[in-house]
Amino acid sequence: MDQNKQLADLLFPHIDKDAEYYENLYPQRNLPAGAKVTRFAPSPTGYLHTGALYAAMIPERMAHQSNGVFFLRIEDTDKKRELEGGVMEIISSLKSFDVVFDEGMTGESSEKGIYGPYKQSERKEIYQTFAKMLVEKGMAYPCFCSEEELNEIRAKQEELKQNPGYYGQWARHRNASFDEIKSELNTGKDFVLRLKSPGKPENRIVIADLIKGDVEMPENEQDIVLLKSDGIPTYHFAHAVDDHLMRTTHVIRADEWLPSAPIHLQLFEVLGWEKPYFAHVSPVLKMDGTSKRKLSKRKDPEAAVSYYHEVGFPAESVREYLLNLINSNYEEWRMANPTASNKEFTVDLSKMGTSGALFDLVKLTDISKDRVALMNADKVYDMTLQWALQFDAELAEQMKNNEAYTKAILGIERGVEKPRKDIAKWSDVRGYLGYFYDSWFEECTKDGYEFPENMTNDVVISVLQAYKDAYNKADDKDTWFERAKDTAEKLGFARDAKTYKKDKESYKGHIGDFMSVIRVAISGRKNTPDLYEILDVMGEERLRNRFEKAIKSI
Ligand code: GLU
Repeated sequence: MDQNKQLADLLFPHIDKDAEYYENLYPQRNLPAGAKVTRFAPSPTGYLHTGALYAAMIPERMAHQSNGVFFLRIEDTDKKRELEGGVMEIISSLKSFDVVFDEGMTGESSEKGIYGPYKQSERKEIYQTFAKMLVEKGMAYPCFCSEEELNEIRAKQEELKQNPGYYGQWARHRNASFDEIKSELNTGKDFVLRLKSPGKPENRIVIADLIKGDVEMPENEQDIVLLKSDGIPTYHFAHAVDDHLMRTTHVIRADEWLPSAPIHLQLFEVLGWEKPYFAHVSPVLKMDGTSKRKLSKRKDPEAAVSYYHEVGFPAESVREYLLNLINSNYEEWRMANPTASNKEFTVDLSKMGTSGALFDLVKLTDISKDRVALMNADKVYDMTLQWALQFDAELAEQMKNNEAYTKAILGIERGVEKPRKDIAKWSDVRGYLGYFYDSWFEECTKDGYEFPENMTNDVVISVLQAYKDAYNKADDKDTWFERAKDTAEKLGFARDAKTYKKDKESYKGHIGDFMSVIRVAISGRKNTPDLYEILDVMGEERLRNRFEKAIKSI
């Protein structure tokens, strides 16, 4: 028997399947032309980073906008990084941002699809089948070097100023004979399985990255580890085996993997497989002083996607913002299609930036204000209530006890051509609604009212007395304003600011000052949305009660 075959049997006596078996088990996918098969392949650390959400949205869009398949593979070969419940956390976090999988893991240990198992720890036999195949072909070999031996090699390489690593003449076990290997095995030594790399560094290869463009790099010459001593694959080997057998067409992943792409291309070659397309995504960055750095779990609260739920950014706004970061032409598209679903936008890998996208909460806030401004009052009510039930019980209580009133308040300056844009996140709503609720209004005014400074208490009282009787809820906006002007004029105010400015001595102020008194009395604030609408929503009885309360406080 051929010695490579003998060695393969010696190393993997328990493996009885072959490559053909798996090729048949996982048939080519039957998809329409141009459909992309993509995946998200996280470690189950139970924490979804904003950068990961960003990185997951890209393959999700590429698959779904081409009628392809998007699947979830769990890369749990590093047990140290694993967290209980981590898979479910990833699935539900992504789902809350509308990133859903067609296939793959559906829970800690459940999955759907015929290309599984979708959890790497359950694929050991598959990896070993292909490792065995490479040994048979003379393309892989066991390496018995201890940590110390590897250190020795490194030290020598440093001394001689040679490239570090396990390759060529430095690879001690690369050319070991069958008998040598057998006797090493007999001593019971641990071994890793290494690739017998056919590469030469003087050969340059080009990776046609769909985001970064053509990237030229030296060919891989390292005899990289395929299987660790416990028989578990390295990322490199698992990636090649999994993405081949799961029939991934586009590997879209973080650009930290770009430097090892030559290894991956070589693996596809030695395994005799067609290569997928590659797209390496730059990380999400943040401005820190004058320099840029990665969005950090430790330093930035917004690095955890749970942050957006806690402060109540609508998931839709976060998606919207991340699409802006993914493709800068998104903004233009949005302007042309203000009410379209963000899924109608076509993500284009070639339009992505090749250095990191800069994350900016201020921009997210602006975008979110635009999105919330377009929602109707019922939607804002429902979404705020949903948020408040979890994060602000007091607000939820107020809203539920005053549902119709709250919806009317939220309807102020909404549904019009230029809607008001003052809510970016649901935690802003408390401040927006606050003074409308009578019980909270008490709290808002407990330290008194800030009436315009240039007005005496007597004038303030006279304004409130007069307007209490003058206000008529039946008035349309123009009539309402005229009536206010008439009332103001009778009390000695100018009908407009211009008239007042010409002859300040003759007036107590102008219509704006008059309105300020009313605004402060009913809201406790100097700035509010449209006064006509506020008064209309509050109603006559509330208005009169608030005026009386203000008069008493003076
Ligand atoms: N498990 C790898 C990571 O989390 C996946 C990289 C890939 O998408 O291939 O970085």
